[in-house]
Amino acid sequence: MAYPAHPERVLPFEEARKIVETAAGDLLRKRTFSSEKIDLLGSSGRVLAEEIISDRDLPPFNRTTRDGYVLRANDVAGASEGAPAALRVIGEIKAGSPQYGGSLQAGEALEIMTGAPAPAGGDYAVVMVEYTSRKSDKVLVQRSVKPGENIVPAGSEARKGAALLAPGHRIDHATIAVAASVGKTQLQVYRRPRVAILSTGDEIVEISASPQTHQIRNSNSYSLAAQVAAAEGEALQLPIAPDDLSRLRELVGEGLKSDLLLLSGGVSMGKYDLVEQVLAEFRAEFLFTGALIQPGRPIVFGRIPPAASGVGAYFFGLPGNPVSTMVTFELFAKPMIDALAGAPPRPLPLLQARLKAEIKTKTGLTRFLPALLSGSQVELVRWQGSGDIVATAQANCYVVIPPDRAVIAAGEMVEVLIRR
Ligand code: AMP
Ligand code: MG
Repeated sequence: MAYPAHPERVLPFEEARKIVETAAGDLLRKRTFSSEKIDLLGSSGRVLAEEIISDRDLPPFNRTTRDGYVLRANDVAGASEGAPAALRVIGEIKAGSPQYGGSLQAGEALEIMTGAPAPAGGDYAVVMVEYTSRKSDKVLVQRSVKPGENIVPAGSEARKGAALLAPGHRIDHATIAVAASVGKTQLQVYRRPRVAILSTGDEIVEISASPQTHQIRNSNSYSLAAQVAAAEGEALQLPIAPDDLSRLRELVGEGLKSDLLLLSGGVSMGKYDLVEQVLAEFRAEFLFTGALIQPGRPIVFGRIPPAASGVGAYFFGLPGNPVSTMVTFELFAKPMIDALAGAPPRPLPLLQARLKAEIKTKTGLTRFLPALLSGSQVELVRWQGSGDIVATAQANCYVVIPPDRAVIAAGEMVEVLIRR
């Protein structure tokens, strides 16, 4: 098959990330997503495919937010510690009490608890128990309150029939609280995108194999499957592809039937790095062919137009070095999985930390170096480069070094990409 030439496109990190985010945005706008109904409890991390509608006012009644006394604000105007207002306690409303039917007359109060329905109407307010003292049916109130104080009015958070959350919303525990409180035991969610994983290399063998000295167990298909699962995708591990054109073609064709194809290895400049060639044969459009980062510089991103593969598919050619594979997945593949799941890409999980020891490096690349974050301090782990999975497994984050920094002093604040 002819191999259409494509220009090299090696981009600074931010530009490459932007291209992925743009592709993710396009995809979100254009694609229709299929969905399924699942139990509420299993929905954390998934993406809503329906609106959650409130089946009642929220709160459903005037919700009292403090333990204390509900009274007419006017009755305690000007009250103070030195000159408390004396009111007569005519009853008690606790959480679970039905709505109080009557009204308060001048000089009357009701003892009331957090979560209880406050009486409706009037200039009612709740004064905290801390500012009162009680003697039999009398309460002394030592401060004034504004009408409505410590009461959240019925329907002020949401009205019955209102849309509380929209399709495309990533479900977390707060979403689940909302769904639970409007009585949803199941939710309609988008199906997980199918992500094919294809490791390449003549030296790569199954992890159950007893490798010969020159062989390497296929750790990438497993770390990637774990990353895909953590990103809420459904991983499909394909057989290992040797550095052989015809078998690689076959497996790439297989992988392109999924929503996204992740290849590992075979994207460097070596004679047997055949991945780009095979993708080009599938009429791939290469959006970039490298990023100015370390680890992970040879990363390739592109798409196959619809005609060749049926629906069209995106792919990443991830560098085979295991740490490069992991890092480039986090930086670039994750936003595409988010979009394929029907949700806007999540931002990179970055935070600031104080560097424990000086870092010296060369300028020109944005670096993501394995490091240990403890409390607000971070230090690099000693590693042997992008093949060193042991050091990386012992780390818990990556220090991000901008491309224009050759020296970062101990004590400086640095950006940290956390690993989850
Ligand atoms: P490549 O990107 O194909 O040049 O591979 C770069 C390095 O990563 C080589 O040392 C490979 O042996 C290693 N490597 C490639 N694929 C895998 C894999 N699936 N699992 C573990 N190591 C790999
Ligand atoms: Mg290789």
